[in-house]
Amino acid sequence: MTDKDKTTKEMKWDISGIKNWGPGDHELGSLIPEAGNARYYQTGGWRTEFPIRDDEACTQCLFCYFFCPDSSVLAENQKVTDFDYDHCKGCGICAKECPADAISMHPESEFAERVKK
Ligand code: SF4
Ligand code: SF4
Repeated sequence: MTDKDKTTKEMKWDISGIKNWGPGDHELGSLIPEAGNARYYQTGGWRTEFPIRDDEACTQCLFCYFFCPDSSVLAENQKVTDFDYDHCKGCGICAKECPADAISMHPESEFAERVKK
């Protein structure tokens, strides 16, 4: 049985012969056999700035929660509680979208010092 006869499920991710692939073989390139998931990678590791929320200024509108592209604004009982700094990439969208200017971005070099407080 050739790879073409197998179902997608049965196919193995074997690219050892990639240099010899012809046009008919390149469909293999569309397969992601073991897709990564941000849950398993601490994407916060390549952040250059981190967000801090001012609890007094925050009106709990939840805009930051909905706008964060990485689900890194944590909320409980419909209230923002914290950031998931393991996964927050520091894009600053939450700060930009906050209508109350309650989120500010800070250089990553201050991170350890600030989050301890
Ligand atoms: S900085 Fe970006 S990734 Fe981090 S919490 Fe804000 S919107 Fe989400
Ligand atoms: S967007 Fe701003 S005001 Fe709204 S919940 Fe987030 S921090 Fe609070």
